[in-house]
Amino acid sequence: MPSTATALQATTAWLESVEADILRRNPGEPEFHQAVREVLETLAPVVAARPELRDARLVERLVEPERQLVFRVTWQDDRGDIQVNRGFRVEFNSALGPYKGGLRFHPSVNLGIVKFLGFEQIFKNALTGLGIGGGKGGSDFDPRGRSDAEVMRFCQAFMTELHRHLGEHTDVPAGDIGVGGREIGYLFGQYRRITNRWEGGVLTGKGTGWGGSLIRTEATGYGNVLFTAEMLRKRGEDLAGQQVTVSGSGNVALYTVEKAQALGAVVRTVSDSAGYVVDDKGIDLELLKQVKEVERGRVSDYAARRGASARYVEGGSVWDVPADVALPSATQNELSERDATTLVRNGVKAVSEGANMPTTPEAVRVLRDAGVAFGPAKAANAGGVATSALEMRQNASREAWPAARVEDELAQVMRRIHDTAYETAERHGRPGDYVAGANIAAFERVADAMLAQGVI
Ligand code: GLU
Repeated sequence: MPSTATALQATTAWLESVEADILRRNPGEPEFHQAVREVLETLAPVVAARPELRDARLVERLVEPERQLVFRVTWQDDRGDIQVNRGFRVEFNSALGPYKGGLRFHPSVNLGIVKFLGFEQIFKNALTGLGIGGGKGGSDFDPRGRSDAEVMRFCQAFMTELHRHLGEHTDVPAGDIGVGGREIGYLFGQYRRITNRWEGGVLTGKGTGWGGSLIRTEATGYGNVLFTAEMLRKRGEDLAGQQVTVSGSGNVALYTVEKAQALGAVVRTVSDSAGYVVDDKGIDLELLKQVKEVERGRVSDYAARRGASARYVEGGSVWDVPADVALPSATQNELSERDATTLVRNGVKAVSEGANMPTTPEAVRVLRDAGVAFGPAKAANAGGVATSALEMRQNASREAWPAARVEDELAQVMRRIHDTAYETAERHGRPGDYVAGANIAAFERVADAMLAQGVI
Protein backbone atom coordinates (compact mmCIF):
# COMPACT_ATOMS: atom_id res chain seq x y z
CA MET A 1 0.00 0.00 0.00
CA PRO A 2 1.66 3.29 -1.05
CA SER A 3 1.80 6.13 1.47
CA THR A 4 -0.95 8.73 1.27
CA ALA A 5 1.47 11.32 -0.07
CA THR A 6 2.68 9.00 -2.85
CA ALA A 7 -0.88 8.00 -3.72
CA LEU A 8 -1.89 11.66 -3.89
CA GLN A 9 1.03 12.48 -6.15
CA ALA A 10 0.30 9.57 -8.47
CA THR A 11 -3.39 10.52 -8.63
CA THR A 12 -2.55 14.15 -9.39
CA ALA A 13 -0.31 13.04 -12.25
CA TRP A 14 -3.04 10.74 -13.55
CA LEU A 15 -5.65 13.54 -13.37
CA GLU A 16 -3.28 15.76 -15.34
CA SER A 17 -3.03 13.13 -18.05
CA VAL A 18 -6.84 12.85 -18.14
CA GLU A 19 -7.01 16.61 -18.51
CA ALA A 20 -4.48 16.61 -21.35
CA ASP A 21 -6.66 14.07 -23.13
CA ILE A 22 -9.76 16.21 -22.67
CA LEU A 23 -7.98 19.23 -24.14
CA ARG A 24 -6.90 17.16 -27.13
CA ARG A 25 -10.36 15.72 -27.75
CA ASN A 26 -12.22 19.03 -27.34
CA PRO A 27 -10.17 21.56 -29.31
CA GLY A 28 -11.06 25.25 -29.40
CA GLU A 29 -13.20 25.25 -26.25
CA PRO A 30 -11.20 27.34 -23.73
CA GLU A 31 -14.07 27.92 -21.29
CA PHE A 32 -14.84 24.20 -21.16
CA HIS A 33 -11.15 23.44 -20.58
CA GLN A 34 -11.08 26.01 -17.77
CA ALA A 35 -14.16 24.56 -16.08
CA VAL A 36 -12.81 21.01 -16.30
CA ARG A 37 -9.37 22.02 -15.03
CA GLU A 38 -10.88 23.83 -12.04
CA VAL A 39 -12.66 20.64 -11.04
CA LEU A 40 -9.94 18.08 -11.78
CA GLU A 41 -7.39 20.14 -9.84
CA THR A 42 -9.34 19.49 -6.66
CA LEU A 43 -10.28 15.81 -7.02
CA ALA A 44 -6.97 14.12 -6.15
CA PRO A 45 -7.79 13.49 -2.45
CA VAL A 46 -11.06 11.70 -3.16
CA VAL A 47 -9.87 9.76 -6.21
CA ALA A 48 -6.72 8.65 -4.37
CA ALA A 49 -8.81 7.48 -1.42
CA ARG A 50 -11.33 5.64 -3.61
CA PRO A 51 -9.58 3.66 -6.36
CA GLU A 52 -12.91 2.12 -7.45
CA LEU A 53 -13.87 5.53 -8.90
CA ARG A 54 -10.78 5.50 -11.09
CA ASP A 55 -11.31 1.86 -12.11
CA ALA A 56 -14.87 2.67 -13.18
CA ARG A 57 -13.50 5.58 -15.24
CA LEU A 58 -15.88 7.96 -13.53
CA VAL A 59 -13.81 11.06 -14.30
CA GLU A 60 -13.59 10.23 -18.01
CA ARG A 61 -17.32 9.49 -18.11
CA LEU A 62 -18.25 12.69 -16.30
CA VAL A 63 -16.47 15.00 -18.72
CA GLU A 64 -18.17 13.43 -21.74
CA PRO A 65 -21.71 14.75 -22.30
CA GLU A 66 -24.36 12.05 -22.60
CA ARG A 67 -25.76 13.87 -25.65
CA GLN A 68 -24.96 17.10 -27.54
CA LEU A 69 -27.53 18.71 -29.79
CA VAL A 70 -26.64 21.40 -32.32
CA PHE A 71 -29.35 22.66 -34.64
CA ARG A 72 -30.26 25.37 -37.12
CA VAL A 73 -32.82 27.99 -36.10
CA THR A 74 -34.34 29.83 -39.05
CA TRP A 75 -36.73 32.72 -38.49
CA GLN A 76 -37.98 35.89 -40.12
CA ASP A 77 -37.29 39.37 -38.73
CA ASP A 78 -39.71 42.31 -38.79
CA ARG A 79 -38.47 43.43 -42.20
CA GLY A 80 -39.19 40.05 -43.66
CA ASP A 81 -35.52 39.10 -43.93
CA ILE A 82 -34.55 35.51 -43.13
CA GLN A 83 -32.22 35.06 -40.15
CA VAL A 84 -30.17 31.96 -39.36
CA ASN A 85 -28.93 31.17 -35.86
CA ARG A 86 -27.46 28.13 -34.18
CA GLY A 87 -29.18 26.38 -31.28
CA PHE A 88 -27.56 24.12 -28.67
CA ARG A 89 -28.57 21.76 -25.91
CA VAL A 90 -25.93 19.76 -24.12
CA GLU A 91 -27.52 17.00 -22.05
CA PHE A 92 -24.54 16.40 -19.85
CA ASN A 93 -25.45 14.04 -17.05
CA SER A 94 -28.70 12.47 -15.87
CA ALA A 95 -27.49 10.19 -13.07
CA LEU A 96 -29.29 12.22 -10.39
CA GLY A 97 -32.39 13.34 -12.29
CA PRO A 98 -33.61 14.84 -15.57
CA TYR A 99 -31.17 17.17 -17.32
CA LYS A 100 -31.67 20.58 -15.76
CA GLY A 101 -30.13 23.91 -16.64
CA GLY A 102 -30.82 27.18 -18.37
CA LEU A 103 -30.80 28.50 -21.90
CA ARG A 104 -28.53 31.41 -22.79
CA PHE A 105 -29.28 33.70 -25.74
CA HIS A 106 -26.19 35.80 -26.42
CA PRO A 107 -24.00 36.37 -29.49
CA SER A 108 -21.01 34.81 -27.64
CA VAL A 109 -22.74 31.43 -27.27
CA ASN A 110 -20.98 28.49 -28.93
CA LEU A 111 -20.65 24.79 -28.14
CA GLY A 112 -17.65 25.32 -25.82
CA ILE A 113 -19.52 27.89 -23.74
CA VAL A 114 -22.56 25.63 -23.46
CA LYS A 115 -20.35 22.69 -22.45
CA PHE A 116 -18.62 24.73 -19.74
CA LEU A 117 -21.98 25.81 -18.37
CA GLY A 118 -23.42 22.30 -18.63
CA PHE A 119 -20.41 20.78 -16.89
CA GLU A 120 -20.67 23.26 -14.01
CA GLN A 121 -24.38 22.60 -13.81
CA ILE A 122 -23.89 18.89 -13.05
CA PHE A 123 -21.98 19.76 -9.89
CA LYS A 124 -24.16 22.69 -8.88
CA ASN A 125 -27.32 20.64 -9.24
CA ALA A 126 -25.81 17.75 -7.29
CA LEU A 127 -25.02 20.11 -4.43
CA THR A 128 -28.66 21.16 -4.13
CA GLY A 129 -29.53 17.58 -3.15
CA LEU A 130 -32.82 17.93 -5.04
CA GLY A 131 -32.57 15.21 -7.71
CA ILE A 132 -31.65 17.11 -10.85
CA GLY A 133 -29.12 16.19 -13.53
CA GLY A 134 -27.04 18.70 -15.47
CA GLY A 135 -27.60 20.30 -18.88
CA LYS A 136 -27.39 23.64 -20.61
CA GLY A 137 -28.39 25.18 -23.90
CA GLY A 138 -28.88 28.35 -25.82
CA SER A 139 -28.21 30.16 -29.03
CA ASP A 140 -26.01 32.84 -30.56
CA PHE A 141 -29.21 34.85 -31.11
CA ASP A 142 -28.86 38.40 -29.74
CA PRO A 143 -32.14 39.60 -28.23
CA ARG A 144 -30.81 43.13 -27.77
CA GLY A 145 -32.54 45.59 -30.10
CA ARG A 146 -35.05 42.98 -31.25
CA SER A 147 -38.78 43.66 -31.06
CA ASP A 148 -41.10 41.51 -28.94
CA ALA A 149 -42.48 39.96 -32.12
CA GLU A 150 -38.98 39.02 -33.29
CA VAL A 151 -38.09 37.49 -29.93
CA MET A 152 -41.33 35.49 -30.06
CA ARG A 153 -40.67 34.20 -33.57
CA PHE A 154 -37.13 33.25 -32.63
CA CYS A 155 -38.31 31.41 -29.50
CA GLN A 156 -40.93 29.56 -31.51
CA ALA A 157 -38.40 28.51 -34.14
CA PHE A 158 -35.94 27.43 -31.42
CA MET A 159 -38.56 25.34 -29.60
CA THR A 160 -39.79 23.79 -32.84
CA GLU A 161 -36.58 21.77 -32.86
CA LEU A 162 -35.84 21.55 -29.14
CA HIS A 163 -39.27 20.26 -28.06
CA ARG A 164 -38.59 16.71 -29.22
CA HIS A 165 -35.71 16.43 -26.76
CA LEU A 166 -37.54 17.81 -23.70
CA GLY A 167 -39.97 16.48 -21.13
CA GLU A 168 -40.59 16.85 -17.43
CA HIS A 169 -38.78 13.54 -16.81
CA THR A 170 -36.19 14.04 -19.53
CA ASP A 171 -34.82 17.56 -19.86
CA VAL A 172 -36.10 20.74 -18.20
CA PRO A 173 -34.62 24.07 -19.40
CA ALA A 174 -34.95 27.45 -17.71
CA GLY A 175 -33.47 30.91 -18.22
CA ASP A 176 -29.94 32.23 -18.20
CA ILE A 177 -28.42 35.37 -19.77
CA GLY A 178 -30.86 36.76 -22.36
CA VAL A 179 -33.65 34.38 -21.37
CA GLY A 180 -36.12 35.69 -18.78
CA GLY A 181 -39.83 35.48 -18.14
CA ARG A 182 -40.79 36.81 -21.57
CA GLU A 183 -38.73 34.19 -23.44
CA ILE A 184 -39.83 31.32 -21.17
CA GLY A 185 -43.42 32.32 -21.94
CA TYR A 186 -42.91 32.14 -25.71
CA LEU A 187 -40.97 28.88 -25.42
CA PHE A 188 -43.65 27.29 -23.23
CA GLY A 189 -46.42 28.43 -25.59
CA GLN A 190 -44.72 26.78 -28.55
CA TYR A 191 -44.02 23.56 -26.62
CA ARG A 192 -47.68 23.37 -25.63
CA ARG A 193 -48.85 24.05 -29.18
CA ILE A 194 -46.62 21.38 -30.73
CA THR A 195 -47.09 18.64 -28.15
CA ASN A 196 -50.73 19.30 -27.29
CA ARG A 197 -49.79 18.85 -23.62
CA TRP A 198 -49.96 21.27 -20.71
CA GLU A 199 -46.78 20.00 -19.16
CA GLY A 200 -45.82 22.55 -16.51
CA GLY A 201 -42.70 20.69 -15.39
CA VAL A 202 -41.01 20.95 -18.79
CA LEU A 203 -39.68 24.48 -18.23
CA THR A 204 -39.00 26.49 -15.09
CA GLY A 205 -39.06 30.22 -14.56
CA LYS A 206 -42.66 30.31 -15.77
CA GLY A 207 -45.01 33.16 -14.89
CA THR A 208 -46.51 32.77 -11.43
CA GLY A 209 -50.03 32.80 -12.87
CA TRP A 210 -49.37 29.71 -15.01
CA GLY A 211 -47.26 27.24 -13.06
CA GLY A 212 -44.24 29.35 -12.08
CA SER A 213 -42.94 29.50 -8.53
CA LEU A 214 -42.86 32.60 -6.41
CA ILE A 215 -39.26 33.68 -5.61
CA ARG A 216 -37.80 31.87 -8.67
CA THR A 217 -36.88 35.22 -10.25
CA GLU A 218 -35.18 36.40 -7.07
CA ALA A 219 -33.62 33.08 -6.09
CA THR A 220 -30.15 33.18 -7.66
CA GLY A 221 -29.30 36.61 -6.24
CA TYR A 222 -30.96 35.94 -2.90
CA GLY A 223 -29.17 32.61 -2.63
CA ASN A 224 -25.75 34.08 -3.30
CA VAL A 225 -26.25 36.72 -0.61
CA LEU A 226 -27.36 34.03 1.87
CA PHE A 227 -24.30 31.97 0.98
CA THR A 228 -22.04 35.00 1.48
CA ALA A 229 -23.64 35.71 4.84
CA GLU A 230 -22.88 32.11 5.89
CA MET A 231 -19.23 32.44 4.84
CA LEU A 232 -18.92 35.65 6.82
CA ARG A 233 -20.63 34.11 9.83
CA LYS A 234 -17.99 31.35 9.89
CA ARG A 235 -15.43 34.13 10.27
CA GLY A 236 -17.36 35.79 13.04
CA GLU A 237 -18.63 38.60 10.80
CA ASP A 238 -22.00 39.88 9.69
CA LEU A 239 -23.14 41.19 6.30
CA ALA A 240 -24.87 44.17 7.91
CA GLY A 241 -22.91 47.38 7.46
CA GLN A 242 -20.52 45.91 4.87
CA GLN A 243 -19.74 47.76 1.65
CA VAL A 244 -20.75 45.47 -1.21
CA THR A 245 -19.76 45.73 -4.87
CA VAL A 246 -22.09 44.05 -7.34
CA SER A 247 -21.37 43.71 -11.05
CA GLY A 248 -23.99 43.16 -13.73
CA SER A 249 -27.51 44.51 -13.89
CA GLY A 250 -29.51 41.51 -15.04
CA ASN A 251 -31.78 39.32 -13.01
CA VAL A 252 -29.01 37.92 -10.77
CA ALA A 253 -27.50 41.34 -9.99
CA LEU A 254 -30.85 42.99 -9.27
CA TYR A 255 -31.91 40.50 -6.65
CA THR A 256 -28.42 40.34 -5.19
CA VAL A 257 -28.72 44.07 -4.53
CA GLU A 258 -32.20 43.58 -3.07
CA LYS A 259 -31.20 40.85 -0.59
CA ALA A 260 -27.89 42.47 0.38
CA GLN A 261 -29.72 45.71 1.17
CA ALA A 262 -32.39 43.82 3.09
CA LEU A 263 -29.65 42.31 5.27
CA GLY A 264 -28.25 45.76 6.00
CA ALA A 265 -25.33 45.92 3.55
CA VAL A 266 -24.51 49.04 1.54
CA VAL A 267 -24.49 48.33 -2.21
CA ARG A 268 -23.03 51.11 -4.30
CA THR A 269 -22.44 49.60 -7.73
CA VAL A 270 -23.99 47.83 -10.70
CA SER A 271 -22.58 47.50 -14.22
CA ASP A 272 -23.19 46.39 -17.78
CA SER A 273 -20.95 45.66 -20.77
CA ALA A 274 -20.47 49.41 -21.41
CA GLY A 275 -19.57 50.67 -17.92
CA TYR A 276 -20.50 50.88 -14.26
CA VAL A 277 -22.32 53.09 -11.79
CA VAL A 278 -21.13 54.15 -8.34
CA ASP A 279 -23.96 55.47 -6.23
CA ASP A 280 -22.80 57.04 -2.96
CA LYS A 281 -26.29 56.89 -1.47
CA GLY A 282 -26.57 53.20 -2.29
CA ILE A 283 -28.35 51.76 -5.35
CA ASP A 284 -31.99 52.85 -5.65
CA LEU A 285 -33.47 49.49 -6.50
CA GLU A 286 -36.88 50.75 -7.60
CA LEU A 287 -35.26 53.06 -10.14
CA LEU A 288 -32.88 50.33 -11.30
CA LYS A 289 -35.77 47.88 -11.79
CA GLN A 290 -37.71 50.50 -13.73
CA VAL A 291 -34.75 51.17 -16.04
CA LYS A 292 -33.72 47.54 -16.52
CA GLU A 293 -36.90 45.49 -16.32
CA VAL A 294 -39.54 47.88 -17.63
CA GLU A 295 -37.58 50.02 -20.08
CA ARG A 296 -34.86 47.45 -20.92
CA GLY A 297 -32.32 50.30 -20.64
CA ARG A 298 -28.66 50.57 -19.60
CA VAL A 299 -27.01 51.44 -16.30
CA SER A 300 -25.97 54.79 -17.84
CA ASP A 301 -29.73 55.61 -17.99
CA TYR A 302 -29.93 54.83 -14.26
CA ALA A 303 -27.04 57.22 -13.52
CA ALA A 304 -28.56 59.96 -15.67
CA ARG A 305 -31.87 59.71 -13.79
CA ARG A 306 -30.52 59.23 -10.27
CA GLY A 307 -29.08 62.69 -9.66
CA ALA A 308 -25.92 63.86 -7.89
CA SER A 309 -25.18 60.76 -5.79
CA ALA A 310 -24.48 58.54 -8.80
CA ARG A 311 -21.74 58.72 -11.36
CA TYR A 312 -21.32 56.60 -14.46
CA VAL A 313 -17.88 55.33 -15.43
CA GLU A 314 -17.62 54.26 -19.04
CA GLY A 315 -15.41 51.22 -19.55
CA GLY A 316 -13.07 50.56 -16.63
CA SER A 317 -13.51 47.94 -13.95
CA VAL A 318 -16.17 47.97 -11.27
CA TRP A 319 -13.67 46.09 -9.04
CA ASP A 320 -11.66 49.31 -8.69
CA VAL A 321 -14.36 50.48 -6.25
CA PRO A 322 -13.22 49.63 -2.70
CA ALA A 323 -15.42 46.99 -1.05
CA ASP A 324 -15.62 44.57 1.87
CA VAL A 325 -17.56 42.07 -0.21
CA ALA A 326 -17.55 41.57 -3.99
CA LEU A 327 -20.36 39.72 -5.74
CA PRO A 328 -19.60 39.23 -9.45
CA SER A 329 -23.01 38.73 -11.08
CA ALA A 330 -22.47 39.49 -14.78
CA THR A 331 -20.72 36.77 -16.80
CA GLN A 332 -17.74 34.40 -17.08
CA ASN A 333 -14.19 35.66 -16.57
CA GLU A 334 -15.25 39.19 -15.63
CA LEU A 335 -12.99 39.37 -12.55
CA SER A 336 -9.31 39.19 -13.58
CA GLU A 337 -6.07 38.71 -11.69
CA ARG A 338 -5.57 42.48 -11.73
CA ASP A 339 -9.07 43.01 -10.35
CA ALA A 340 -8.47 40.49 -7.57
CA THR A 341 -5.21 42.20 -6.68
CA THR A 342 -7.02 45.55 -6.46
CA LEU A 343 -9.79 44.05 -4.32
CA VAL A 344 -7.24 42.50 -1.95
CA ARG A 345 -5.32 45.77 -1.72
CA ASN A 346 -8.58 47.49 -0.77
CA GLY A 347 -9.22 44.96 2.00
CA VAL A 348 -11.93 42.69 0.52
CA LYS A 349 -13.05 39.94 2.94
CA ALA A 350 -15.30 37.83 0.74
CA VAL A 351 -15.93 37.24 -2.96
CA SER A 352 -18.89 35.12 -3.99
CA GLU A 353 -19.91 34.21 -7.54
CA GLY A 354 -23.46 35.07 -8.63
CA ALA A 355 -22.60 34.54 -12.29
CA ASN A 356 -21.15 31.28 -13.63
CA MET A 357 -17.32 31.20 -13.43
CA PRO A 358 -16.91 35.01 -13.31
CA THR A 359 -13.54 34.79 -11.54
CA THR A 360 -10.52 33.75 -13.63
CA PRO A 361 -8.34 30.95 -12.22
CA GLU A 362 -5.48 33.44 -11.67
CA ALA A 363 -7.83 35.71 -9.72
CA VAL A 364 -9.05 32.80 -7.59
CA ARG A 365 -5.40 32.07 -6.71
CA VAL A 366 -4.80 35.70 -5.66
CA LEU A 367 -7.88 35.63 -3.42
CA ARG A 368 -6.99 32.27 -1.90
CA ASP A 369 -3.40 33.32 -1.16
CA ALA A 370 -4.71 36.46 0.55
CA GLY A 371 -7.07 34.41 2.74
CA VAL A 372 -10.25 35.92 1.24
CA ALA A 373 -13.40 33.81 1.67
CA PHE A 374 -14.30 32.67 -1.85
CA GLY A 375 -17.69 31.20 -2.79
CA PRO A 376 -17.54 29.34 -6.13
CA ALA A 377 -20.57 29.59 -8.42
CA LYS A 378 -21.42 25.90 -8.18
CA ALA A 379 -22.22 26.40 -4.54
CA ALA A 380 -22.98 30.10 -4.23
CA ASN A 381 -25.39 30.58 -7.14
CA ALA A 382 -27.17 27.23 -6.84
CA GLY A 383 -30.21 28.96 -5.33
CA GLY A 384 -31.64 29.65 -8.79
CA VAL A 385 -31.67 26.09 -9.98
CA ALA A 386 -32.65 24.84 -6.51
CA THR A 387 -35.76 26.99 -6.73
CA SER A 388 -36.35 25.61 -10.21
CA ALA A 389 -36.41 22.18 -8.59
CA LEU A 390 -38.95 23.54 -6.09
CA GLU A 391 -41.00 24.80 -9.05
CA MET A 392 -40.88 21.28 -10.54
CA ARG A 393 -42.12 19.90 -7.21
CA GLN A 394 -45.03 22.35 -7.21
CA ASN A 395 -45.86 21.43 -10.81
CA ALA A 396 -45.82 17.72 -10.03
CA SER A 397 -48.21 18.14 -7.13
CA ARG A 398 -50.24 20.93 -8.82
CA GLU A 399 -49.62 23.19 -5.86
CA ALA A 400 -48.53 26.82 -5.61
CA TRP A 401 -46.56 27.50 -2.47
CA PRO A 402 -46.62 30.86 -0.70
CA ALA A 403 -43.50 32.99 -1.06
CA ALA A 404 -42.52 32.47 2.57
CA ARG A 405 -42.38 28.69 2.11
CA VAL A 406 -40.22 28.93 -1.01
CA GLU A 407 -37.88 31.43 0.67
CA ASP A 408 -37.60 29.24 3.69
CA GLU A 409 -36.70 26.18 1.61
CA LEU A 410 -34.21 28.27 -0.39
CA ALA A 411 -32.52 29.45 2.80
CA GLN A 412 -32.29 25.85 4.03
CA VAL A 413 -30.77 24.67 0.74
CA MET A 414 -28.17 27.45 0.76
CA ARG A 415 -27.20 26.71 4.34
CA ARG A 416 -26.91 23.01 3.55
CA ILE A 417 -24.75 23.68 0.48
CA HIS A 418 -22.53 25.98 2.49
CA ASP A 419 -22.09 23.47 5.30
CA THR A 420 -21.50 20.56 2.91
CA ALA A 421 -18.78 22.48 1.04
CA TYR A 422 -17.22 23.72 4.27
CA GLU A 423 -17.18 20.35 6.01
CA THR A 424 -16.02 18.42 2.95
CA ALA A 425 -13.08 20.80 2.51
CA GLU A 426 -12.13 20.36 6.13
CA ARG A 427 -12.38 16.58 5.93
CA HIS A 428 -9.98 16.54 2.98
CA GLY A 429 -7.39 18.74 4.63
CA ARG A 430 -8.37 21.95 2.80
CA PRO A 431 -10.02 24.06 5.53
CA GLY A 432 -11.85 27.13 4.23
CA ASP A 433 -11.43 26.02 0.59
CA TYR A 434 -15.02 26.12 -0.69
CA VAL A 435 -13.85 25.33 -4.24
CA ALA A 436 -12.37 21.99 -3.21
CA GLY A 437 -15.24 21.26 -0.81
CA ALA A 438 -17.96 21.93 -3.39
CA ASN A 439 -16.21 20.01 -6.15
CA ILE A 440 -15.45 16.96 -4.05
CA ALA A 441 -18.89 16.74 -2.44
CA ALA A 442 -20.67 17.13 -5.79
CA PHE A 443 -18.33 14.73 -7.56
CA GLU A 444 -18.91 12.02 -4.98
CA ARG A 445 -22.69 12.40 -5.20
CA VAL A 446 -22.76 12.05 -8.98
CA ALA A 447 -20.02 9.41 -9.11
CA ASP A 448 -21.76 7.21 -6.51
CA ALA A 449 -25.01 7.36 -8.49
CA MET A 450 -23.19 6.47 -11.71
CA LEU A 451 -21.35 3.64 -9.99
CA ALA A 452 -24.62 2.21 -8.69
CA GLN A 453 -26.27 2.47 -12.10
CA GLY A 454 -23.67 0.38 -13.88
CA VAL A 455 -21.74 0.74 -17.09
CA ILE A 456 -23.89 3.25 -18.97
N1 GLU B 1 -29.25 29.38 -15.44
C1 GLU B 1 -29.32 29.14 -14.03
C2 GLU B 1 -28.03 28.53 -13.56
O1 GLU B 1 -26.97 28.87 -14.07
C3 GLU B 1 -30.56 28.39 -13.61
C4 GLU B 1 -30.82 27.10 -14.30
C5 GLU B 1 -32.17 26.48 -13.94
O2 GLU B 1 -32.92 27.03 -13.16
O3 GLU B 1 -32.44 25.41 -14.50
O4 GLU B 1 -27.97 27.77 -12.64
